[in-house]
Amino acid sequence: MRILVSNDDGIFAPGIKALAESLAREHEVYVVAPDRERSATGHALTLHKPLRAEEVTLFEGVAGSWQVNGTPSDCVKLAFGALLDTAPQLVVSGINRGPNLGTDVIYSGTVSAALEGAILGAPAVAFSLASFDDLHYATAAHFALEVAEKVREQHMPSRTLLNINVPSLAPEGLQGVRVTKLGIRKYNDVFEPRVDMRGKTYYWLAGEPDEQEEHPDTDVMAVRSGQISITPIHIDLTLYPLLDEVERWGWTVQDKVVETTRKG
Ligand code: MN
Repeated sequence: MRILVSNDDGIFAPGIKALAESLAREHEVYVVAPDRERSATGHALTLHKPLRAEEVTLFEGVAGSWQVNGTPSDCVKLAFGALLDTAPQLVVSGINRGPNLGTDVIYSGTVSAALEGAILGAPAVAFSLASFDDLHYATAAHFALEVAEKVREQHMPSRTLLNINVPSLAPEGLQGVRVTKLGIRKYNDVFEPRVDMRGKTYYWLAGEPDEQEEHPDTDVMAVRSGQISITPIHIDLTLYPLLDEVERWGWTVQDKVVETTRKG
């Protein structure tokens, strides 16, 4: 399969190397990734400066690789729109250093790179390692081959992706695979105020995830019990059960416009 690999930790991160080289053992792999860390940049696009792509030789066995001075979404868009001759059949993002669970997916550059692939019409997968230290990238990289195989065999509906979180364990320590829903990952966000050399206050966003009890079917709980978590995600954010109710609220924009105009 022709696979595009990207990430948000940057092209020099160990996670993308493990992922690209593992997939390249069986597939035609192209890497297009940010030239520096762009974690938590969400789905941002670069509109006000040019994008530059520079070929690199950092990965064994891949068919091509570029570093880009943009965001994860920029990288995937540029790969589809300019760098690759033929569109990839699968987009894989990661392996992120740290989990992307529950509400993390909204902020995650890792998930956004995969999401961009899904928007552009390819099946897509985001991989995150659920730890910031003691990093077993090889476990997740090896599992990526199984995932690529499944995507090839099975039909993934259009505009969808799989968000996969792998516990940072040696393969023999894993407690299996679980298909999950997104949990709620709250953070006790703390802005730590400091004072600069001119006496002005500035802030660092710090804080820790609030590890509360969750429904057993969530990604948070799967990873907590040593299981690989797979959550299917789609792009359509419409809340269908609320369509009729919001309709019933009654909307009279015309009256209000007239009233406001008169007062003005
Ligand atoms: Mn990251």
